[in-house]
Amino acid sequence: MNDNLKIMRYSLIFFLLIIHSYSRAQTAEKIHFNSILVDTHNDFLSKAIEDHVVFDTNLKGITHSDLTRMQEGGVKVQMFSIFCDGGYGKGSAFRLASQELDSLDAIVARNPKTMQMVYSYNQLMDAVNHKMLACMSGVEGGHMIEDNLDYLDSFYRRGVRYMTLTWNNSNSWATSAMEESHHSFKVTPYGLNDFGKQVVKKMNQLGIMIDVSHIGEKTFWDVMATTGKPVLASHSSVYAICPVFRNLKDDQIKAIAKNGGVIQINFYTGFLDSNYIPNLDSFLKVHKIEYDSLAALKKTEYAILKYFSKKYQQDFENMRPPISLLMDHIDYIVKLVGTDYVGLGSDFDGIDSAPKGLDGVQDFPKITNELVKRGYSEKDIKKILGGNFLRVFKANDNYRAAR
Ligand SMILES: [Zn+2]
Repeated sequence: MNDNLKIMRYSLIFFLLIIHSYSRAQTAEKIHFNSILVDTHNDFLSKAIEDHVVFDTNLKGITHSDLTRMQEGGVKVQMFSIFCDGGYGKGSAFRLASQELDSLDAIVARNPKTMQMVYSYNQLMDAVNHKMLACMSGVEGGHMIEDNLDYLDSFYRRGVRYMTLTWNNSNSWATSAMEESHHSFKVTPYGLNDFGKQVVKKMNQLGIMIDVSHIGEKTFWDVMATTGKPVLASHSSVYAICPVFRNLKDDQIKAIAKNGGVIQINFYTGFLDSNYIPNLDSFLKVHKIEYDSLAALKKTEYAILKYFSKKYQQDFENMRPPISLLMDHIDYIVKLVGTDYVGLGSDFDGIDSAPKGLDGVQDFPKITNELVKRGYSEKDIKKILGGNFLRVFKANDNYRAAR
């Protein structure tokens, strides 16, 4: 072939590739904005307390989330996490959770044309059809009911639609993944005790989804034997790809599928990428003196990492995996149990690192683009973006019966 012909041939291939990726992007955008995108875990309310930031202002470059970017990203349903750590207990944890619920109510009340609290499946669909951001909440840690079943009623009335049975801390009735993996729990027998079973049954009865993220394996199997409703893993990833203590193992994924539940993939680099912890350890070795001096000032590990991630931006940037790794977690679940049991639970504003390109809620369309690239059908993409979660929510929804 002469040189001119060669150049023409390569130009044509290049041109076709551009057209192809352009039309794929168009298709992905159309699917994305026609889907009901649900994110089941956003920590903005805790971030707001920590950093004094206001959701309905422009927070680009400061947080992962704000109202405008959530709309830009096509989020239709947001479950806000209600969180305080295990240092809060009787007399303080429920009060702190209630204050976060107050701030969510206040944000929604300030934005009556764009946001709406929803309490049932029908209300959710109605809000979405009216182009409102449908808001619900999830309590991240059973310690916030302070061993009082009446507090579950109170949470339910206020729009809490899932409760993560434990956070990293165990409580008196359920052991956490962190403490089970270290054998550092203080209760016997461990797992879910009799009161824990009552909690699960009461949640089933009220219509608060059982969230199995963060719970220990023993607790998990006790829950699966107790719940009468499909469960939710609001922000968990795959153990086989990234073996960290709170990711889900294959037998757990299969059990959730059998139960008709759903696993919402967590975007945190440390739960997606098995290289992250070794990389972070080597970085911390280099900066040990600085770390120790900050620790001596009683700064928490989380606060130090947050400070380091700003000061040593390039090092932290290099530790972010490509978005394809997040897609691998989705693919893994699909290959193991099918397309009906996976969704998205970003953990935005509760994490300090996510894959490259995922800088906040405005970047959700990139995930849809990747799903199209991997050959998922429109029907399956819609399930992953929100349909699977909606099935679980509907199955748990007792709104009429509970009133
Ligand atoms: Zn969490």
